[in-house]
Amino acid sequence: MAPVFNSLLLSWALTKGVAAWGSLGHATVAYVAQNYLTSDTAAWAQGVLNDTTTSYLANIASWADQYRATTAGKWSAPFHFIDAEDDPPTTCDVDYDRDCGDTGCSISAILNYTQRVSDGRLSVDHTEEALKFLVHIIGDLTQPLHDEAYEVGGNDIAVTFNGYSDNLHSDWDTYMPEQLIGGYSLSDAQSWANSLIEDITSGQYKSMATDWIDGDTTSDPVTTATRWASDANAFVCTVVMPNGSAALQTGDLYPDYYNSVIGTIELQIAKGGYRLGNWLNLIYSSGIAKRDLNAEDQLQSRDRDTLPEPELVSRDIPAASRSLSRAQLAREAMGGSCCSSGKRKHAP
Ligand SMILES: [Zn+2]
Ligand SMILES: [Zn+2]
Repeated sequence: MAPVFNSLLLSWALTKGVAAWGSLGHATVAYVAQNYLTSDTAAWAQGVLNDTTTSYLANIASWADQYRATTAGKWSAPFHFIDAEDDPPTTCDVDYDRDCGDTGCSISAILNYTQRVSDGRLSVDHTEEALKFLVHIIGDLTQPLHDEAYEVGGNDIAVTFNGYSDNLHSDWDTYMPEQLIGGYSLSDAQSWANSLIEDITSGQYKSMATDWIDGDTTSDPVTTATRWASDANAFVCTVVMPNGSAALQTGDLYPDYYNSVIGTIELQIAKGGYRLGNWLNLIYSSGIAKRDLNAEDQLQSRDRDTLPEPELVSRDIPAASRSLSRAQLAREAMGGSCCSSGKRKHAP
């Protein structure tokens, strides 16, 4: 019996996968965003992605997690988070200069791919890659533990959730959202998104949504994304571990802890989708539409040879070198990985 049981457990673990917000969270962020795209932005995104289905953003929302798990994509692992070196629950704050590592972070990646996606000189493949990174990373940024260095974003905080031995990070990414929705398929994500859209349109989020995007500008992606990261990071002190991490290790997180945080998870998914939709509209209106309009003029009036060469690789320009902090050393030890939710086992 044992081998059968083990292989079942293994295949179950493999289907659960390793994700950041899990695939459910990312697809939900994508469906919420799709709802807010203008028809011009939507047509542009569908063209870039070569996908005219009704799930064009949701279909690629977790691509960056799959890519990161490959040998070729390992370099992109740091783009999924920013390790805020704060001191929760006493102090929470994000400092881009302090916290964005030498190999880049979510915020520098948003800067890079926002510029690249509307560059117009990149190959079709690189433009598509830039859009896929943006759809994913703007989602990750709203998960509070993706904006936190403490215990590798909670990956090293062992907890029990609903009878399973988990880590806190994967419960936030995957298991608590799935507990709420009861599945992780695209149709689960679509129906979760529909209910969040209703909350934004006429429900509990209606009065907040304008603030979620207040000041967002593609002319300053670092300031904009740092504001998003700081907003999510603040929840680490107030909601994720208001009494410190040890308080989360004294019993099952279900149902009391789950009930205390699930509203924040829903809020952050809604916010991520709303921001992503607005960001892509801004990219379209300030970049793509103007570029297309001016393309002919530019060709006539500017010598194309004087334009700077676009980066030929898809990587960020690294920040200045500095010695690694304790949290960064811990990330290195994890091989740049983010989440270890694929090895889930029932608590003994
Ligand atoms: Zn994650
Ligand atoms: Zn991710």
